Amino acid sequence: MIVEVIVDVSAYPIDRPFDYIVPEALETLVERGSRVHVPFGPRKVQGFITNIKEETDLDKSKLKEVHSILDVEPIVTEELLKLSKWLTNKTLCYEIDALQVMLPAALRASYKKNIKLIDPSALDEDFLALFGKKEIVSYEVIEKAGYLRSMKKHLTGGALQLETVIKQHAKAKTIVKYKVTPDREFIVEQLNSLTKQAVKQKELIEWLLQQQQTAFTMQQLIELANASNSTVKALIEKGVLEKEKEEVYREISSLEYHDKDKRFQLTEEQTNALTKINHAQEHAENTTFLLHGITGSGKTEIYLNAIENSILKGKQAIMLVPEISLTPQMTHRFKLRFGDQVAVMHSGLSIGEKYDEWRKIWRGEVKVVVGARSAIFAPFKDLGIIILDEEHESTYKQEDNPRYHARDVAIWRSEFHQCPVILGSATPSLESYARASKGVYSLLTLQMRAKEQALPTVNVVDMRAELKNGNRSMFSVDLADAVREKLDKKEQIVLFLNKRGFSSFVLCRDCGTVVECKQCDISLTYHRAGEQLKCHYCGHEEPVPTTCPECSSEHIRFFGTGTQKVEEEIAKLFPYARVLRMDVDTTRTKGSHERILKQFGDGEADILLGTQMIAKGLDFPNITLVGVLNADTTLHLADFRAAEKTFQLMTQVSGRAGRHDKEGQVYIQTYTPEHYAIELSKSQLYEPFYHTEMLTRKQYGYPPFYFLTLVQVTHENVMLASEYAKLATDWLRANLSSTTMVVGPTASAISKIQNRYRYQCLIKYKKEPLLIEKLQQLIKIYRTEWIKKGVILTIDLDPSTIL
Ligand code: ADP
Ligand code: ZN
Ligand code: ZN
Repeated sequence: MIVEVIVDVSAYPIDRPFDYIVPEALETLVERGSRVHVPFGPRKVQGFITNIKEETDLDKSKLKEVHSILDVEPIVTEELLKLSKWLTNKTLCYEIDALQVMLPAALRASYKKNIKLIDPSALDEDFLALFGKKEIVSYEVIEKAGYLRSMKKHLTGGALQLETVIKQHAKAKTIVKYKVTPDREFIVEQLNSLTKQAVKQKELIEWLLQQQQTAFTMQQLIELANASNSTVKALIEKGVLEKEKEEVYREISSLEYHDKDKRFQLTEEQTNALTKINHAQEHAENTTFLLHGITGSGKTEIYLNAIENSILKGKQAIMLVPEISLTPQMTHRFKLRFGDQVAVMHSGLSIGEKYDEWRKIWRGEVKVVVGARSAIFAPFKDLGIIILDEEHESTYKQEDNPRYHARDVAIWRSEFHQCPVILGSATPSLESYARASKGVYSLLTLQMRAKEQALPTVNVVDMRAELKNGNRSMFSVDLADAVREKLDKKEQIVLFLNKRGFSSFVLCRDCGTVVECKQCDISLTYHRAGEQLKCHYCGHEEPVPTTCPECSSEHIRFFGTGTQKVEEEIAKLFPYARVLRMDVDTTRTKGSHERILKQFGDGEADILLGTQMIAKGLDFPNITLVGVLNADTTLHLADFRAAEKTFQLMTQVSGRAGRHDKEGQVYIQTYTPEHYAIELSKSQLYEPFYHTEMLTRKQYGYPPFYFLTLVQVTHENVMLASEYAKLATDWLRANLSSTTMVVGPTASAISKIQNRYRYQCLIKYKKEPLLIEKLQQLIKIYRTEWIKKGVILTIDLDPSTIL
């Protein structure tokens, strides 16, 4: 028997299945989708069986044997094997990357390099000392001790040998249990043969005989049966008890909530939408619905109902949220409704916890997964519905290989399972709304808030006028008044600080110099703790300069606003307010998002001050005022989606106010009130924004009128980066259809990251049947030729940003 294996090596000549012979002993275990260890060159690597066959065109005597099979049952389902093929082609990645991305990290292998000592006499004394009495040490030990050079010499010389071993990650968690032997006669026999002195053993056996349960932890035996360690040991020796390991799931800790699941009489709009979705479920139609509902219109309630319907039919559901650690409220609602049938998957979990949640899905022990992007690969076998909440969010696109969009994968899986997809948003991506307008997606609209509350009134405040009137504070007079009013009424306030882009930099007020990262060409971010400047791309840190590096002026200082600075100003302006701050600094530890939100929900603070992470998902009845301190920062991103992102953000944040009985108010502070993305946030009407933005997109040839593919070339040497970018651009221009535009090459907006210069070109096209084929050819040239020159080429189809 022969198997085709995709091996865990990402390299161009290896991006195909390899044939291996299956040793007879393993033949019955072989299945498509199982992981194997196989020899590859001098090492052993992990791989996936993608095909089983009897014959091969290759010389059988040259084939190697499968070393071992890791899975008793295949961990990649037939569906996901197919999906991985599609993903490989769609995103132009290695097939191994497409397979790995679908599995939890615990199931991927990592490799450890060891150095084996062959000839001790060749090494100098200090080097030899690293080995001590051992024959093998890890590569890291040698690296740390600074012997890499000498190691290389000896590897070539033969005195040392490199070994790579596969390291498996997290294992199933087990606990020890003591099991009572089922042979009761034997137990009674043992009981009778005990000496009079063995009172304790006697008591324990009698107790065990009375129990229904047959396995106990040591703690149970001690607490319930009053036994001791030595008694248990004695019974093990006698064969009455048997020590056993039992697999358990890691428990994901979460805070305690005291609320109950609320069920509502659905509104007419909700009912209409749900009827259509359920109809598609009944008739196994793979319709993609775009659920466009204003904030607070009850979209989540529709998701819950649609999923319930799916569970009733014995099917499963995937519920995607942009980044789940930021939306504990959402997860909580799902747990309230579906209890133990929910698995949760997000970046805040440990490798082991993720592995456990994944296995619950794989074993069919849960019916719903609520998770971030990668949960789209949940190995459910009979999907009834797939939902993406906040479908416009850019976190659904993976920025690394494979560069997939969860929306595309959702639609692929819905075709496979013949089930509907719901894309939900108050501010859909232009692409999705355009598709819905053309009838490619089926549009469902919710125009009213679920409890018929009015949308909050939005006031745009011109900060230039404030400055002219001598107000240098970051609070306009109007916003400050509104905050005071709400504080008096004991209502809650959300203050939003738009931090994306260049918001807290150090600037010289004499010459205008902004301190930038020398490696990344991007403004350094000011951190008050330790007066440090940090680069958010490469992690570079330096102290804040006391004089301007350009003109030596002393008027160089922090500009823009950090959350801490706002916090200080709040303390000055509203000394009695209780403030909670939510930003990267206060949410570093596990569970801190959830804790802060719960405190706010429980009314322990008057003001929640935060960055992007508070824009979504908050649903608290007492919030009646939302203030956006600086709307402009997203508008100034060098990205064609800047206006769309600003409008989305303003609408999302505004949607936090007045969701329940009390009326809400919003203040948006800006230096560019005339920009349509700001202007139209006032009415919070999506349609007018959509039409205005579509005109701009059409004029400049951007999506959804054109498709984009971003080709980026990076190199440590600026000349080579630009030279190869030109080669790539010219090649594409010569090989793609004449109607396709190839724009560039240009330096990227962020022209340097981690010491590599970045150049790019954009492919714009409406229809390009040759695209994938030609890009594959370009990749071949790159992987066989350019890569040797230190060039890195990346291709992003439908990029979410072009910075
Ligand atoms: P969205 O997801 O569109 O922002 P939600 O589903 O969170 O909206 O609903 C907003 C609020 O309205 C929530 O507090 C929710 O409990 C409530 N709600 C939803 N549907 C109804 C309904 N049919 N009747 C009354 N309240 C509802
Ligand atoms: Zn200066
Ligand atoms: Zn940097």
